[in-house]
Formats: sequence, structure tokens, C-alpha cells
Amino acid sequence: MFINKIGIDLGTANTVVFIPNKGIVINEPTAVAVSLDNNQILAIGNDAKDMVGRTPELIKTYKPLKDGVIADYKITRAMLKYFLDKSLGRWRFIKPDLVISAPCGVTSTERRAIMDASREAGAKNVYVVKEPILAALGAGIPINSAAGNMIVNIGGGTTEVAVISLGGIVAWASVRVAGNKMDVAITDYIRKKYNITIGERTAENLKIEIGSALPTKEKKEMEITGGDLTEGLPKNLTINSNEIAEALSSVLKDIIQAIKGVLAETPPELVADVMSRGMFLAGGGGLLKNLDELITRSTGVPVYVADDSLFCVAKGTGIILDNLEIYQRTIISFK
Ligand code: ADP
Ligand code: MG
Repeated sequence: MFINKIGIDLGTANTVVFIPNKGIVINEPTAVAVSLDNNQILAIGNDAKDMVGRTPELIKTYKPLKDGVIADYKITRAMLKYFLDKSLGRWRFIKPDLVISAPCGVTSTERRAIMDASREAGAKNVYVVKEPILAALGAGIPINSAAGNMIVNIGGGTTEVAVISLGGIVAWASVRVAGNKMDVAITDYIRKKYNITIGERTAENLKIEIGSALPTKEKKEMEITGGDLTEGLPKNLTINSNEIAEALSSVLKDIIQAIKGVLAETPPELVADVMSRGMFLAGGGGLLKNLDELITRSTGVPVYVADDSLFCVAKGTGIILDNLEIYQRTIISFK
């Protein structure tokens, strides 16, 4: 099948590529491993993430998109080219139209960087769309309707909160508190409580496997291995879900603060819509157990986790690609 349209969710943690009529073709970490002596790229995506925390000194693994914007231009361009070539396969000699996500607070310089990197990586027309709009579309929200709709997209580096009406963003906030900070909070908690250090990936596994936003009657447990800080030896330890809830509480408070801030800035008519329609959680962080319940308790608004929450933004790119005319006002730049 001929491919001339492609959508990319360039996330701080994961890059997801969508092709209309095919679906999700790539879902890999936004990571690049570079050899420091000759500055060569050694691995991208899955292969690079496997090296995190395990690389010798001469290899550095980068997450080039700190907080959702292009922090390292050259590396991002190489990564985009790798993902585009891999998705397009034998069609890669045809330059496709590209819809790509950008954080809500993207500056014009950053937007230009995204567009230039995309074109140099092989795209023809590049359409940049704000992430909450894509997340909302992918969650099945009718963004062009005249009612207020609220989306909270919790990724790795950032949480973006937005109220959307008539295809535009009415109130929003973007905070640098999301999945990565949750992992750090878990690591800190275990270090303080048990005097044991754990790796980034162990912390993430704890969060995904037994994590909870609220303490629960029935606790889940997981055994992990860390390094004892006094003896320097490996040590096994069992952690339970209520400890994770305790570790995460201050990070989650910050996310809820951002949500409350956006509600406070939203015109009353639209707040009424949000109250009756509920708010939707998207992104990997939206999958944290009991987070919907915690947000409902703190804000009084019903909360739903979007279907396929990790893929909402990517699915949103597909909807824009197929309906460029309808969503013209929503696209922030094209050329
Ligand atoms: P980004 O858009 O920034 O690339 P994603 O939406 O892909 O981020 O989400 C990645 C984050 O979601 C990571 O921090 C990851 O640990 C977290 N995550 C993934 N699955 C879960 C889960 N089931 N529970 C809690 N967090 C999760
Ligand atoms: Mg994302």
C-alpha cells in the first residue's frame, strides 16, 4: 500500500508513529545512544533504551526531548529519520505529509525546529498540532463542538492539561511533573526509608506493576533488588502498593494543582460542560491505578481514562491527516 501520510507523536518518553489505514506502526522509547569518542549514533529507540543505566562511560544514552521540546537538534533529526525510514520501508523515497505533536507552550523557535528537523528527516508538508488537541481527538472527544471538553495528558516529562471548545484551547497548563518525576519520587522514597538505591527501570516497574495513586485495603507486593548504601552490596526487598501511593503523593498533588488551576481559568459555562461530561486522562501516566479516583475526589469532576490512553496522541494525528480541511484552524503551522 502506497504511503503518503504519516503521524508522529514525539513524546518525551515514547515515540509513536501512526499511518492511516495501517494504524500504529512504531512504539519505541524516545532515546538515542551516542558514542562519545567519535560522536556516532549507536542505537535509537528500543535498542538505545536497553542501554540506559548499563552503558560504559564512552557511550551516552540521550533522551533528546526534555520536557517535550527539541533539546538536541541533530540527535532529534537523526531519530526522526530513523523512525520515518523504518515506518515507510520501501516507500521511503516518497516524501509523506506529516502531522507531528508539539507541547502546548511551544515557542515559535521550537516550532520551527520541529518543522525543520522533520523536513530534513524526509517529510514533505509538516503540520504541527498541539498535543492536547491530538490527545482529545484520539480519546474520541468532538473537539469542534461548542461545548467545553477537558483533557489531561500525562506523559513522561510533562503533564498537559487543557479545556478545548470549538477546536481551540480555551485554558491550559503544562507542568514538568509526570511519569519521570513519579519514578524519581519512588527512588527517593526507597532510599530514605530503606537506605537502598534502585535503578530508574526498577522504579518504573514498581510504578507500573503495583503503583497506585491511593492507598488500598488490599496491598500488592513486588520484590526488587537494589544496592545497600552502607554495605554497597546487592539486596532484595519487598515493596507494597501503599508505599508507592505514599511515595507518589506529592507528585500527584502537583498534577492536581495544575488541573485545578485550569478549571479556575475556564469560563463558567464551559466548566459546567466539563462537570457533566467529565475529564479524560490520556498518556502513560493516565494509566496509574486509582488516579482517576484521586482526581475525582480532589476536584469533584468525574474522570475517565481514555481507551488506548498511550496511543491517543498518535491516533489523533491520524484523524487530522484524514481531515486536514475540517481541522485547519487547529493546526498551528504548515508549509
Ligand atoms: P510521552 O508522551 O511523554 O512520551 P507517554 O504518554 O508515552 O509519555 O507515557 C510514558 C510514561 O507513562 C512513562 O513515565 C511510563 O512509566 C508511564 N506509564 C506507562 N504505563 C503506565 C502504567 N500502567 N501506570 C503508570 N504509569 C505508566
Ligand atoms: Mg505524549
